[in-house]
Amino acid sequence: MTITLAPQPTLGGTRELVDGYGRVHRDLRISITDRCNFRCTYCMPAEGLPTLPQDDVLTAAELTRIATVFVEHFGFTSIRLTGGEPTVRADLVDIVAGLAPLGTDLSLTTNGSRLGRLAPRLADAGLNRVNVSLDSLRRDRFALTTRRDALDEVLAGIRAAVAAGFSPVKVNVVVTRGVNDDEIENFARFGRDEGVVVRFIEFMPLDADNRWDRQSVVPSAEIVDRINDLFPLEALTATSSPATVHRYLDGGGEIGVIGSVTEPFCGSCDRVRLTAEGQLRSCLFSTEETDLRTILRSGSDHPTDQLQRAIEATVASKWAGHGITAVNFTRPARSMSQIGG
Ligand code: SAM
Ligand code: SF4
Repeated sequence: MTITLAPQPTLGGTRELVDGYGRVHRDLRISITDRCNFRCTYCMPAEGLPTLPQDDVLTAAELTRIATVFVEHFGFTSIRLTGGEPTVRADLVDIVAGLAPLGTDLSLTTNGSRLGRLAPRLADAGLNRVNVSLDSLRRDRFALTTRRDALDEVLAGIRAAVAAGFSPVKVNVVVTRGVNDDEIENFARFGRDEGVVVRFIEFMPLDADNRWDRQSVVPSAEIVDRINDLFPLEALTATSSPATVHRYLDGGGEIGVIGSVTEPFCGSCDRVRLTAEGQLRSCLFSTEETDLRTILRSGSDHPTDQLQRAIEATVASKWAGHGITAVNFTRPARSMSQIGG
């Protein structure tokens, strides 16, 4: 496919990466592995998923090279490492150290189980921020949801991240009707007590078991109302972040809600995603991908030029919105752990 693109406005020597709807892209999500030590019910099946052959996964040097194109040529200001579970990758600290000199806001999304040990090393390597996923504060329910009895490790990981100086530490809670929606208020208390920002995420149709349905989604508006009844909140002005932020009026911190299903934020989406094997996706729900790894490994004299063109073409064809609630919505072939959430 050959796509001819009109020249884009320049920004400090870089070209803005703009799609057909005028959205400027500045945020790169990099999945560094498709493997995980948990089996969260809303993400992976109990038996796990087939994993990529090791040779197919981008090396630290390769993903740094691709990230450099995004930062130096397209002015990206934010990089988030994710997975699978990024902390299962043995060279995570080296990856962080390789990306830190790019000078972006560099963050990590993790299940937190290995953060107790890793947090100080990640901070030293140049990581700026950490998001930890945690869906229940009850040990029995945590074990049912993740299929691992590891609540204590995750809590220790959150506290280690706070102690290592990451600020703010965010705790991501996927809220599912009838599963953990009775813990919303407890999570609000937890955030206030621990000095972390709890972000409530609507369950999305990206689970490997295909159990998602509209009834299992707890709307963000309901979550905010329930917390507001207990600890009054005020809404803060929206940013390009998908989370709508609300601040406690008594100064107890803030919460975020990510209403991907009931309040989609596609109109201000500024992110692209790179899978662990180097496939570029313009949306979580994309059904098409661009193979950057083959370009990188082609032995071409001008891989950077080719990467730039491939990236521009991918973003140029980004669609307006994910259409989760549309009758003709088609789930992507990959589930969340294979894309990188
Ligand atoms: N393993 C890491 C973790 O759990 O934080 C990083 C990868 S995980 C795929 C990234 C985020 O996606 C997590 O916050 C997780 O809770 C969220 N997630 C996974 N499946 C989801 C789904 N079906 N709907 C909404 N969020 C989901
Ligand atoms: Fe693993 Fe994260 Fe998916 Fe849970 S949400 S199974 S921790 S990748």
